[in-house]
Amino acid sequence: MCGIVAYLGRKAAQPILVEGLKRLEYRGYDSAGIALLRNGGLCIKKTCGRISALEQVLEGPRGLDTLGIGHTRWATHGPPNTVNAHPHVDGTGKIAVVHNGIIENYNTLKTWLQSEGVAFQSETDTEVISNLIGYLYCHGESAERCNGQHLFEWAVQQALQRLHGTFGLAILCSDFPDTLIGAKRGSPLILGVGNDEYILASDAAAIVEHTTRAIYLADNEMVLIGSEGFHTKTINNVVVAKDLKEIEFSLDQIELGGFEHHMLKEIFEQPQSLSMCLGGRIDKQCGKIKLGGIADHLRELTQAKHIIFTACGTAFHAGLVGEFLLEHLARIPAETEYASEFRYRNPIIGDDTIVVAISQSGETADTLAAVEQAKERGARVLGIVNVVGSSIARATDAGIYLHVGPEIGVASTKAFTAQVAVLSMLAIELGRRRHISSDDAARYIDELSQIPEKISTILDQSSHIREIAAANIDRENWLFLGRGFNYPVALEGALKLKEISYIHAEGLPAAEMKHGPIALIADGMPAVFIATAGPQYDKIMGNIEEVRARGGKIIVVATEGDDEIRRHADHLITIPEAPELLQPMLAVVPLQLLAYHAAVLRGHDVDKPRNLAKSVTVE
Ligand code: GLU
Repeated sequence: MCGIVAYLGRKAAQPILVEGLKRLEYRGYDSAGIALLRNGGLCIKKTCGRISALEQVLEGPRGLDTLGIGHTRWATHGPPNTVNAHPHVDGTGKIAVVHNGIIENYNTLKTWLQSEGVAFQSETDTEVISNLIGYLYCHGESAERCNGQHLFEWAVQQALQRLHGTFGLAILCSDFPDTLIGAKRGSPLILGVGNDEYILASDAAAIVEHTTRAIYLADNEMVLIGSEGFHTKTINNVVVAKDLKEIEFSLDQIELGGFEHHMLKEIFEQPQSLSMCLGGRIDKQCGKIKLGGIADHLRELTQAKHIIFTACGTAFHAGLVGEFLLEHLARIPAETEYASEFRYRNPIIGDDTIVVAISQSGETADTLAAVEQAKERGARVLGIVNVVGSSIARATDAGIYLHVGPEIGVASTKAFTAQVAVLSMLAIELGRRRHISSDDAARYIDELSQIPEKISTILDQSSHIREIAAANIDRENWLFLGRGFNYPVALEGALKLKEISYIHAEGLPAAEMKHGPIALIADGMPAVFIATAGPQYDKIMGNIEEVRARGGKIIVVATEGDDEIRRHADHLITIPEAPELLQPMLAVVPLQLLAYHAAVLRGHDVDKPRNLAKSVTVE
């Protein structure tokens, strides 16, 4: 959550910071602010609300202000108002800090600093950082204590060593008009290295416009940037060498490209994004799947007695599909755990347990913590992530990248279909090695290769789906019902509607309805059934009738050519035929579109839903 951007170079910093913040706005949009170094002092501008509101309070850029830091906030401590907006400045007015993360011991530190006479302005945990650095800066002048370092750097290191919790930080000190410091623990931070200019940011989206060369800081590392270059070290002052990496995505991938919203663009990208995800990994000729990232662990996976998927939100729903796939194709006991629960439980993990963490951003704080917990208990831990070089990608023993390009829309879409595609490939390959025949594996591989094309035909129904959303737009409660492989799709459909339309929705296994939720059905309540061809088709037809008999509005996602179901539905959406276990990648697409159109019809900001932000990097 939250976006950080900082600039040191030869150009005016302000427009670069503002542009960078706009690109990071999907990470948080409660408030925004910047600090510039100007005439030997700090010039701070901040405001509640979006970057567009910040622009209103900014003066025109000055060419001489070539060093600055910026922040777009997703509030954790203290409401989203101007006082709590970052940057936060210490009592002396010399130190300015922007922060992504949570300082867990902020109360203890705040009480101590207050007892030392330090005054606080905001309710944030972050202000403890600026004040602690400022306090140490004022009390640490002895050259001996600084050990040859400059005082600013020394004070930052001393402060960081006292912090518990997570941080991605960019820090300025007005006494050092040529120095920018970045530091990281648990929250992402990347340094873009241009020609005589540096951009420090939470993610590459704010960097690619300026340079594609970057270094990725690891936890407890910091970077000191000056006009002469940069140095990386640990927060304990041990020098570390970092390699420059090439940032893998381009500017057009993060632009709207003619679409009204990133979410819609990403829904429509799915035929291409899935092709990229499958590309080079499926060999139709040999009927085999090649997953290079986990090649060294295939034997272990084949022999695993227990596989645990751990994830949050949409990725959790993908994990559920993965669980069913592994059970069905490979006969490996599998389960899916919310990372936020798993990390605090006492899970049974043996030598032959493999934990697979799923996260689009690779920065999801709970999932990362679950990875650490599983590692401590001796499990082999693999990752399925999209963002190359992200924290989960680095913390796991090996993994599979989605390769779908950046996902900017807060409501995840193309990452879900790719996560399910990766899990399908994994299950087919393990199935081929353990349980199913080579012919069956080859047949599934062939079917999988057709999924991207089939998604294209579903996208053609977008305006029809918009009409369905419009016909039910005044309804405040919806049900999403599916069975078998489509049960996680029902959960995902409900989540999408909640996230961006703020309509209450529940996803359920269709048969569970009569154990309670059927009591909710009243005249005209929309119930979305995923009733595609498969072994449970007749059963779900029964469930449809149960809801219809009680006055529910029946919206059905069915298989093309199913003319019979038309008579039982108020609204019908069709998807192409596919084996039951590959249907989730198809059946979810109309539900993404349904949620999208409902949100637009209700006038919501689809890409920036209230209270949410992309990549949940705080607990
Ligand atoms: N904990 C800080 C705050 O509430 C930073 C939150 C963030 O990562 O946006 O302001």
